[in-house]
Amino acid sequence: MDRRNFLKATGALTTTAMLSQNNQTYAQPKLRTGEHVLILGAGLSGLSAAYLLHKQNIPFTILEARNRIGGRVFTHTADEAENLHVELGAEWVGASHERIQALCKELNLNLLNHQFETHLTLEGQYFKPKQWNYEQNWTSKYQTLLTNFKQLTSKNSKVLDQIDWWRYLNNQGISEKDIELKELFDSTDFGESIRNVSAYASLSEYAYSSPNNEMDFRIERGNTRLVEAMAEKIGMTHIMLSKKATHVKQEGKQVQVLCEDGSQYNGHRLICTLPVFALSKINWQPGLPADKTDALNQLQYCRIIKSAVVFKERFWQEEAFDMVTDTTAHYFFHSSKNLKSVKGTLTSYAIGEKAHVLSKMNQEQKIREICQGLKPAFGDVLPYAEKVVSYYWGGDAFSKGAYAIYDTHQWFGIRENLAKPFRNISFAGEHLADWQGFMEGAIQTGEDAAKGLLT
Ligand SMILES: Cc1cc2nc3c(=O)[nH]c(=O)nc-3n(C[C@H](O)[C@H](O)[C@H](O)COP(=O)(O)OP(=O)(O)OC[C@H]3O[C@@H](n4cnc5c(N)ncnc54)[C@H](O)[C@@H]3O)c2cc1C
Repeated sequence: MDRRNFLKATGALTTTAMLSQNNQTYAQPKLRTGEHVLILGAGLSGLSAAYLLHKQNIPFTILEARNRIGGRVFTHTADEAENLHVELGAEWVGASHERIQALCKELNLNLLNHQFETHLTLEGQYFKPKQWNYEQNWTSKYQTLLTNFKQLTSKNSKVLDQIDWWRYLNNQGISEKDIELKELFDSTDFGESIRNVSAYASLSEYAYSSPNNEMDFRIERGNTRLVEAMAEKIGMTHIMLSKKATHVKQEGKQVQVLCEDGSQYNGHRLICTLPVFALSKINWQPGLPADKTDALNQLQYCRIIKSAVVFKERFWQEEAFDMVTDTTAHYFFHSSKNLKSVKGTLTSYAIGEKAHVLSKMNQEQKIREICQGLKPAFGDVLPYAEKVVSYYWGGDAFSKGAYAIYDTHQWFGIRENLAKPFRNISFAGEHLADWQGFMEGAIQTGEDAAKGLLT
């Protein structure tokens, strides 16, 4: 059974399409010939919805607040002359992520290997891969926990959702040393401390992830190539940039969107793919139901800052270099892997409070702090550093975070309310996905929302 089917079986999958299929209250009237669909957001979710509608010859318009498409997919050129690009948003395409891989194939985009062998720096001590590990009895116990999770009943899934990942691991007898490691590694995945993540949310991800934890590939020439290729197919004339929606009005069979610049768009259905923070800022007329508003007020997004340092030389030598540390820079990986350039980039991927601290530093301070994290492994590398390009998602105007983080009681407690349609509006986006926090999830929810409108 794959992850999607497991979540269905435990009652934990709540896409718009599923809600409409299973529950009359949420069933939406199907789209009639000539009716127009408005889509809020030109991230992967909005573009996926649009691409599906485009293939069905259904008229639509995407309204995007930024002056670029892609949202949290954001490739940046760090050095023009060297053709060095880095991902400031989504990085990896997972081996289990079938929809995104199929889309890449359909759009003739190559996937490059982006797997790493992990080094570790702990309390100033540096360990190469295979020089560090979890205790042996914990490694086998953990495998058993992952296997047993797949047999979990719906009732026990809900019990698991009441406890955080850190406490759950402690209850399972993890040692002091191993919980330190687990916090460092798993907080990298969730973007905040594992004390803030539901044990159900964690296990449902890890039990179904590829051996490399979905850190498998990247798209050649940058992940933005995918959104660009989709936009080319859809046609840029259907994508309105710099159109920040401020009001959404539903009257009879009509939906009207008012944008910050005074422009207005009319349609018969709306697919809203906005992250929770942006969604909450919209003036909805009539207002959203109270249970949805409550759910919107509860869901948090993790704080991540990605800082790619351009180095004159690739002093780390190993192509597959990455390193988890207990320093402010947190996690490093060789982001110029597979790029043919003399210079190279190491990206620091810092989470939670560490991300916030780094975001307050100027360029020079940031470079110093990041190089400090590399010191136990490579000595003083400051002389090699040329510049840093970074983006702090905790401060992003639209998402105020990198991706949603499901705390205790939330997977089963609020997801359904977040996902359920409201009259002529359906909702999509990474935060509603089974592969939540991933591009795969954003694509699936966008496609599901579009499918939900079709007969
Ligand atoms: C730092 C970071 C690392 C990540 N790493 C990975 C990874 O390695 N692998 C992976 O698969 N995924 C990763 N992700 C997650 C992935 O990027 C997201 O799941 C996915 O891109 C979200 O797509 P979306 O369409 O749901 O949302 P978004 O991309 O946020 O799209 C929503 C769009 O709505 C627009 N918008 C907001 N408000 C308004 C408004 N009022 N009016 C009109 N438009 C508006 C926004 O500008 C945005 O373009 C990462 C994300 C981040 C930030």
